[in-house]
Amino acid sequence: MKLLEERIKKDGKVLSEAILKVDSFLNHQIDPQLMNEIGIEFARRFANDSISKIVTIESSGIAPAVMAGLHLNVPVIFARKQKSLTLVDHLLTAKVYSFTKQESNEISIAKKYISENDTVLIIDDFLANGQAALALAKIVTEAKANVAGIGIVIEKSFQGGAEILRKENYRVESLAQIASLADGKAVFK
Ligand code: 5GP
Repeated sequence: MKLLEERIKKDGKVLSEAILKVDSFLNHQIDPQLMNEIGIEFARRFANDSISKIVTIESSGIAPAVMAGLHLNVPVIFARKQKSLTLVDHLLTAKVYSFTKQESNEISIAKKYISENDTVLIIDDFLANGQAALALAKIVTEAKANVAGIGIVIEKSFQGGAEILRKENYRVESLAQIASLADGKAVFK
């Protein structure tokens, strides 16, 4: 997606060879116009897949997921990273290991929001090692629903996630694919 690549080039900050900061338009301050275009692009790519629900993870996945939900006209569910007081039982859970934070978190979704009749599109802001997407896919599978695909805003192709997910036969649609973050700049695939 040209518009997204241009924005990453203009406003993304390469923090290291592994980490890209996009907090001026994607995961702290959010550009609604860009999110809308991202939603339209996800909706276009999954238009013929009978998507009935979108599943993402808080907090950075929510903005692109909601826009995709708007354009596919389906509800959006986000997995919580912390147990909420009102989310106590009937939960679907999975562990996510974060390489950046070097810690494991349990994420959860209320069972009542995903059923075996659902065809689910998983959306997240970044794909690095694939742990977040795999945990979301595990939750969807536990609910006996079908995973139609995984929509990623920014794939860091040089980390193993995309390969792991494709090996597990998930369809991965990434709107920007970064081949390298070496020398302080993002190089696209
Ligand atoms: P994974 O589970 O694929 O290793 O990592 C995905 C999650 O880590 C995303 O939900 C995202 O929040 C975070 N993440 C991974 N790499 C980056 C990065 O380069 N920049 C930012 N801002 N977040 C990242």
